[in-house]
Amino acid sequence: MRIFTKALIKVAAPMPDLDSFQRYLFVGPHPDDIEVGVGATAAKLCRMGKEVEFLIVTDGRYGSDTADYDKEELIEIRKQETLKSAEIIGAKKVIFLTYDDGGDYSETDIKNDILKEIVEFKADVVFTPDPLLKTECHSDHLKVGRATSTAFMFSGIAGVPKDKFGLEAYAAKALAYYYTEIPNVRYKVKKQDVETQIKALQQFPSQFKVVDNMDQMKMISAYIRFRALRAGFWRFKGRAEELRVVPNSRMHCFAEKVK
Ligand SMILES: [Zn+2]
Repeated sequence: MRIFTKALIKVAAPMPDLDSFQRYLFVGPHPDDIEVGVGATAAKLCRMGKEVEFLIVTDGRYGSDTADYDKEELIEIRKQETLKSAEIIGAKKVIFLTYDDGGDYSETDIKNDILKEIVEFKADVVFTPDPLLKTECHSDHLKVGRATSTAFMFSGIAGVPKDKFGLEAYAAKALAYYYTEIPNVRYKVKKQDVETQIKALQQFPSQFKVVDNMDQMKMISAYIRFRALRAGFWRFKGRAEELRVVPNSRMHCFAEKVK
């Protein structure tokens, strides 16, 4: 019976082809999360001529190994790093919501801001960290993942964006979680996309330094190149990034695994 319902849902609500859309919104809890988690995918979509926007939820004020520093200065440094990186990837716009990094802001407030951007931009696919990652302890990642999920849900419910912002609804077609341990899509990318991702990460010297003779930039680059090959190996795709994709036809109520 379960096999029957699974087959039925697969036919009634097929998985979307991520390449088939026009506008892609990448949501990151902190400056650099998009690049680390899903940068090659963003680079590939830009290379294909798609419209890509980045939305950074927090200001990244605590992105330092020390406690005694000028936080306003670091916020500005990280903002400039993000802008340079987005330019290398090819994102046409970067939005900074500037909530406090690690702060006690309301998940509802960020959900509303993300929802507004989805309908204004008319985002077809929305990327966000997977809040179901079991080892994830950072409240910004958990809150942003959950808030984006809810915003995605309400983007197509006509009355909600109308009542909240006076805007027409625009039903985003798919939600794609990065930083996931339960991927159902291995999105094919090319070596050049991974190299663009690494070049973008090199724009964040405030985050990747040499500490105790350990070059963090070299380490993250090696990890990202290996991760892309490992993900590609699964489907003989060469290189890939792992995503958990939820189409809007299955974002609510169905318990069957989305595959
Ligand atoms: Zn982060």
